[in-house]
Amino acid sequence: MNNNKDEKKTYVIDSTAIMHFFPNEQLANEDTYLIIPEKLKSEIKSFQAKAVLEVMDADQRLIYTSPSDHSIKIVKEKAISSGDISSLSETDIHVIATALDFPGSRVISDDNAVQNLCAFLNIDVETFLFKIKTRRVYFWKCVGCNNTIKTKLNVCPECGNRLKRFYKKKKI
Ligand SMILES: [Zn+2]
Repeated sequence: MNNNKDEKKTYVIDSTAIMHFFPNEQLANEDTYLIIPEKLKSEIKSFQAKAVLEVMDADQRLIYTSPSDHSIKIVKEKAISSGDISSLSETDIHVIATALDFPGSRVISDDNAVQNLCAFLNIDVETFLFKIKTRRVYFWKCVGCNNTIKTKLNVCPECGNRLKRFYKKKKI
């Protein structure tokens, strides 16, 4: 037994992890649990991914679940206020909501918007290719009157012109 690995680790993976992550050494660890939202299940097509999941399933280290409506609501609201909502798929939202349902779980993702939103929600993220070091706080500026707003709207509430998205970086 490894002394500093007495803590069980629970991971929730997203679409990018499904595409790039398998096979992975971390998941071979017997103290590692994997949670997969039902919505993501249909995206799992690669032979390697299925093989890894079969082993984990046989070890009873794999859980298929659907996130609670409550967590989905929290994630969507946060995604609207952070500005990530337009970059997130319905599956992404389910992945993050699932992580909220399992406190202490970590999301494995290479997706910028997923990482960004997890930072807002205090969910730990592990990545495999690319990790953001700052989180993005989005805002929108009117191309006509320069009016700045914090939430996404279709047109400027002042003059009706198109809005363009910008962001400032904040350290995580
Ligand atoms: Zn305007």
